[in-house]
Amino acid sequence: MKSVNRRQFLKISGTTLIGMTLGGTALRANAQEVLSEDDPSAKALKYVAKSAVDGQMCKGCAYASGEGDNLNCALFPGKLVSAEGWCAAFVAKPS
Ligand code: SF4
Repeated sequence: MKSVNRRQFLKISGTTLIGMTLGGTALRANAQEVLSEDDPSAKALKYVAKSAVDGQMCKGCAYASGEGDNLNCALFPGKLVSAEGWCAAFVAKPS
C-alpha cells in the first residue's frame, strides 16, 4: 500500500476542503433562489408572489413543500415560491 506523506496529505485535504466549500455554497445559493414573477416559467403559469385568489395560496397547494415564508414547489425545481403566492397550476392539498 502506498503511503501518503505530510505534504501530499495537506495538498489533498486543501483541495477537498475547497471543493466542499464551493459545492456547499452552490447548493445554498441554488436552494435560496426565490422565483421572480418575471421568470419566463413563472409568467407561463401566471405566478404571483401575493395571491389574489381567495383560499388559494402556495402554502395550501399540493405541489408545495417545506415551511416558512418561502417554499419548494414541484413545478419550479431549484427555486422557492412565496408561501402566499399563487399560480394557475394551483391544486389544493388533500384534507
Ligand atoms: Fe404555488 Fe402550487 Fe403554483 Fe407551485 S404549483 S407556484 S405551490 S400555486
